[in-house]
Amino acid sequence: WPGHGRGHLTFEELQAILLDTPSAEKASEWSKYYTSGAHLAGQNLSQAEWTRDRWEEWGVKSDIVAYDTYINYPLENRLALLKKRTASTGRDSDTWEVAFEATLAEDVLEEDPTTQLENRIPTFHGYSASGNVTGSFVYVNYGTFWDFEDLLRANVSLEGKIAIARYGGIFRGLKVKRAEELGMIGVVMYSDPGDDGDITEENGYELYPLGPARNPSSVQRGSVQYLSIGPGDPTTPGYPSKPGVPREPVDGVLASIPSLPISYAEALPILKALNGHGPRAKDINQYWTRNAGLGYKGVKYNIGPSPDDVVLNLVNQQNYTITPLWDVVGIINGTIPDEVVVVGNHRDAWIIGGAGDPNSGSAVLNEVIRSFGQALDQGWKPLRTIVFASWDGEEYGLVGSTEWVEEYLPWIQAANVAYINVDVGVRSPTFSASAAPLLHSLLYEVTALVPSPNQTVQGQTVRDLWDGHISTMGSGSDFTAFQDFAGVPSLDMGFGGADDDAPVYHYHSNYDSYWWQSVYGDPGFLYHRAMAQVLGLTVAKIADMPLLALNATAYATALKEYVEKVESKLANSDIKPSSEASEAEIFEFRARSTNAEVKGDRAAFKRSFSRLYGSIDEMKSAAVELDAKAAKLAAQANEHIPWWHWVKKLKLFHQIRFTNTKYKKIERAFLYPGGLDGRSWFKHVVFAPGIWTGYAGAVFPGLVESIDDKDFTNAIKWIGIIDSCIQTATKTMQ
Ligand code: GLU
Ligand code: CA
Ligand code: ZN
Ligand code: ZN
Repeated sequence: WPGHGRGHLTFEELQAILLDTPSAEKASEWSKYYTSGAHLAGQNLSQAEWTRDRWEEWGVKSDIVAYDTYINYPLENRLALLKKRTASTGRDSDTWEVAFEATLAEDVLEEDPTTQLENRIPTFHGYSASGNVTGSFVYVNYGTFWDFEDLLRANVSLEGKIAIARYGGIFRGLKVKRAEELGMIGVVMYSDPGDDGDITEENGYELYPLGPARNPSSVQRGSVQYLSIGPGDPTTPGYPSKPGVPREPVDGVLASIPSLPISYAEALPILKALNGHGPRAKDINQYWTRNAGLGYKGVKYNIGPSPDDVVLNLVNQQNYTITPLWDVVGIINGTIPDEVVVVGNHRDAWIIGGAGDPNSGSAVLNEVIRSFGQALDQGWKPLRTIVFASWDGEEYGLVGSTEWVEEYLPWIQAANVAYINVDVGVRSPTFSASAAPLLHSLLYEVTALVPSPNQTVQGQTVRDLWDGHISTMGSGSDFTAFQDFAGVPSLDMGFGGADDDAPVYHYHSNYDSYWWQSVYGDPGFLYHRAMAQVLGLTVAKIADMPLLALNATAYATALKEYVEKVESKLANSDIKPSSEASEAEIFEFRARSTNAEVKGDRAAFKRSFSRLYGSIDEMKSAAVELDAKAAKLAAQANEHIPWWHWVKKLKLFHQIRFTNTKYKKIERAFLYPGGLDGRSWFKHVVFAPGIWTGYAGAVFPGLVESIDDKDFTNAIKWIGIIDSCIQTATKTMQ
């Protein structure tokens, strides 16, 4: 009987445990543990075992699940600026002089003990190509698809050159992908302080560790996988990397040109070598000078190419190997066998630290598990099964989570009602979230139950201080396989919002350390505690209320907004975004203004939109009815029914089961088995990572990509696919 799933705890009692148990001191202790030793993917079994042992201690049955995956570790690298000295007499030959040799290492800081450890991880790119290339170089701004379009239009020669790109805007792998497609031979990426918001040296802030501004030697490591076949082990697309499985070749799937990340300190001599060569950034496109922050250091942001006698030598040697990765999976069995909630965070980091990414989330997850352990001690048993996961290999390409989803796909599709992700749990005081529409109302409800650590106004909650914006699901963390491959409504959250006033976050750098977190990120670890409270309550609500905490009406409403957005994309294709426009809006505008050939009948395409609106209206009626029915059943489940009314009880029980099964199936209706054009691993017709953004979510990706290609015949095909998914969802709800 659902109402009794909680053992002898009422929901209010469970809620009190989940609010009272998480402790800032404990979170700090876990953060310190995880960030005290290297835990690069596949290189730290002891942290997996430690995690499993803690979870077991807290009363949650746990195991290590291993996969054999194809990944790379750095061997050696080099980046040097070379200048040719021409022979002074006919007998001498020309010589190349090293004008600048990059250290490719971050500074050791007296204040920050993590930076002093011996086994620091080199600065490199996951899934990057080995190579040794020499050539003149070109500044490509962020290296987005649209930046490269601008360069092509300006007739800047790219073939055979090395790209210098700043980080930002899109997923880094897509920068390398486009550079490779255009015949470039290597890519160097640096972190421009202009992209750090207001907290910069130029604005008078002290540099880390003395102040909150970016340390000039900080380097962002990270994966440059191409996302074309989807995340996970690139040699096993769609199936799990169990020992001995057959593997696909990686040609065309991984980068074939080498790349290296560098700091802005080491980018300076390279960028300055371009001064006076080729057009200036501002002449290429007005957007190119936005947030370009090294002018005060003498960089003129000329595009280049550098003259033939000024070149870069880029060496990147990687050891590719098949190695085990270790997910830790814990389970609390519920009373309903086929309704399961999965909660996950990744454990692996690019660096010894990772106090923000990912171990603020790991500390939070531990506090949540410890809190549920307290409830178990008091005899509690959830209605639904809860699975906790500490993923490995996220950083290389969401590998641990994707392989796990691929292995358990039939069970996940049959039973998984929601996936809740926390990656960077805390790096600023700004709460942010992305989620499937089915989970929006739950998020608003739960954040309003947790007091904010900021009590400048007494009693204010996390909800009060959050702008309430929920992004659509893109990619960049472990929810991707759940949402886009398995059709499980997912949610990703953390105090990780971009905040112009917050101390600069040294993402994927040695300075994402325990010291940074405890001095600048979250002094006192109070936001860690709040995050554990939010996460615990989210899991409790979805796992332990008789009616599934999903809202169907929100999905129909969101679908209508998405269709309107796609339509307005067609209508306003020539309106320029204002100077206040977000980066994303500018990208969209620039994507639209490319002049591809028009394929198919645009007018017929526009007419076919009305069909979608009709189906969405029907879905909305079904959704409103379902939500009303669920609310009624929820009220009845709360009433006390004496045992001798067992027939009534049984009937209610069956109605609740029946209703929950409907909710469980809604998201699955949006999977299209054929997958998206050119990237068939992605099965969801509503949500996918943008094909040239990677992180930011696209809505109706198949449709939108067809419009961007001006292929209206294909766009009509996608309207048909989307329409039938909506109708399936409607039938499911009815
Ligand atoms: N969080 C990782 C990153 O942004 C994800 C890598 C990936 O999606 O491949 O680098
Ligand atoms: Ca796989
Ligand atoms: Zn992460
Ligand atoms: Zn990361």
